[in-house]
Amino acid sequence: KLEPTVRQPEEEIISLSLVQPQFDVQQFPEYVDLKKRIDSAGAVNPYFRLRQGINTDTVLMDGKPYINYSSYNYLGYAGDVQMITAVQEAVAEYGTSVSASRLLSGEIPLHGELEATVSRFVGTEDALVYTAGHATNVSTIAKLVGKDDIVLHDELSHNSLIQGCLLSGAQRVSFPHNDWEALDRILTRTRSHRRRALIVIEGIYSMDGDIPDLPKFIEVKKKHQAMLYIDEAHSIGTIGATGRGICEYHGVSPSEIDILMGTLSKSFSSCGGYAAGSAAMIQFLKYLSDGFIFSAGITPANAAAALAVIQSLEKDPAPVQRLQQNAKLFLEQCKLLGLQTGLSCDTPIIPIIVGGSDRTLQLTEYLYQEGINVYPILYPAVPEEAACVRFFITANHSREQIEWTVKLVAKGIQSLEKEPVMI
Ligand code: PMP
Repeated sequence: KLEPTVRQPEEEIISLSLVQPQFDVQQFPEYVDLKKRIDSAGAVNPYFRLRQGINTDTVLMDGKPYINYSSYNYLGYAGDVQMITAVQEAVAEYGTSVSASRLLSGEIPLHGELEATVSRFVGTEDALVYTAGHATNVSTIAKLVGKDDIVLHDELSHNSLIQGCLLSGAQRVSFPHNDWEALDRILTRTRSHRRRALIVIEGIYSMDGDIPDLPKFIEVKKKHQAMLYIDEAHSIGTIGATGRGICEYHGVSPSEIDILMGTLSKSFSSCGGYAAGSAAMIQFLKYLSDGFIFSAGITPANAAAALAVIQSLEKDPAPVQRLQQNAKLFLEQCKLLGLQTGLSCDTPIIPIIVGGSDRTLQLTEYLYQEGINVYPILYPAVPEEAACVRFFITANHSREQIEWTVKLVAKGIQSLEKEPVMI
């Protein structure tokens, strides 16, 4: 007869730790390379810094306040009391999770309300909400084109767009940044060999903070009977007189665009993403896109937060105007002090080019020690000579914060010219 053995808790822990499989990093060269760079950065490694409180114009790190330029909370709604109340009410009514795919038993009235509000705001017939912006791009693009088709994307496209293109199995071609003429030439050469063609661009590019010439892209799309997909992750809520994104900015009707995609995690201060367009396309995605069907629906809290933000913006776009004034001021100050941004338009993403990863890391650390939280963009994300410190401006920043910051950056760069900033 087998006697059950009674184990002491300590023994349990030991035996569990013994069965933990080891991770052999040598088998993952991309990680070995990254780890080397992180280790060599030593104390200057700026990633995964812990913060407390809300990610807005200021932020608390180790109990110390910093002026913050590393948040996508463009309009400042993430800490807004009205939005927090809406979330609390939704959680009280529907709980913390919808606990199923929406296709099965996960659908709640908040989902439909949010989608109707998103499509009204962006100006399309309908919209579909996913649980992440990343998943939205992957799932939507992978469904819109397949192996007999061609997908053409800007060379600076976000990872999620490229993942969607790869998953689709379509022929993938990247065209030079914002170069609609090069795109036209590629399509002239390749279009007839392929069934469908999808052009993928962004409303504002998250590395450079620049905006594409949308009317030209529409011309090219029409000429080649292609579909046009625009990722508005950074442009919705930030450009256009009332924050309605790239179409409003260029004075173009949203009906000219096949798919307007956006995230809920930036201007809308929530988490999730949407695809917006014709009712027929949305119906197609609702029944066929994998990241929607095979994933639990967006949580009541996240749906309620985005819904409350958009409804508030529809009533009063004042935060959009504040954001745009702040971005303009930041850029003007940079020009005044001779800092290089490479930008010709006022967007809330402002890279200040330092050049060289080491120098950029040093400047970032100097700014951090002076009470400014901002992150570097280094090679390979950008060419080594274009390494920069990237500022995300919000509606909540004050004139004083902006003027102080730009002066400090100029001072930091000046001391880099003479000798490395001592840290
Ligand atoms: N598209 C772009 C252009 C982005 O910058 C991001 C994230 N920063 C995403 C998509 C993914 O959005 P999310 O973080 O909401 O998943």
